[in-house]
Amino acid sequence: MTFPLQPAIFLDRDGVINENRDDYVKSWAEFRFLPGALAAICNLAKLRRPIVVITNQSAIGRGYVSHDVVDEIHQRMISAVINAGGQIDAVLYCPHQPDEHCSCRKPKPGMLRKAAAQLQIDLAQSFFVGDAESDVLAAQRAGCLPILVHTGRGQNEEKKLQAHKTSGYQPCDDLATAADWIATQLNFQRQHFRLS
Ligand SMILES: [Mg+2]
Ligand SMILES: [Zn+2]
Repeated sequence: MTFPLQPAIFLDRDGVINENRDDYVKSWAEFRFLPGALAAICNLAKLRRPIVVITNQSAIGRGYVSHDVVDEIHQRMISAVINAGGQIDAVLYCPHQPDEHCSCRKPKPGMLRKAAAQLQIDLAQSFFVGDAESDVLAAQRAGCLPILVHTGRGQNEEKKLQAHKTSGYQPCDDLATAADWIATQLNFQRQHFRLS
């Protein structure tokens, strides 16, 4: 039995859901939700699509934090989201350093493709919210719609995108604004489907 592919909402973690730290998030005590992020994920959950976090965590490869602690941070993050009335269906992370040249570290699309295969996701109809040029590029390489938020590193990263003349992404103030924009897009798709 085959199931139809479904659109998903991919979220970067640091700078989108929680505050970025120059010295990496190395424990749950250092994890701080950005203002409005929990409420925004609740709004996204109402859209009834898989919500998947896709994050580079080179702090593991650099030896600053262990796999176990990163897994614990993600369990606690998911619990906090569920307690707030939201949902996160999966978290995929890349533990490698840039010089390991893995196939998962963003801007490579490996994690998006892996999630798509595991969760029957239609990448061409999916959204990816990030705060970095590498998020926008990973989204574009996977065929998703990139949304660049201005929280975290977003404002500086948008200057890079402009300098590199990268277009085709939707800028948004923060995850709350991005959630509203995604809802509008999905409602439009639904209406279009009904009319056709
Ligand atoms: Mg980020
Ligand atoms: Zn990797």
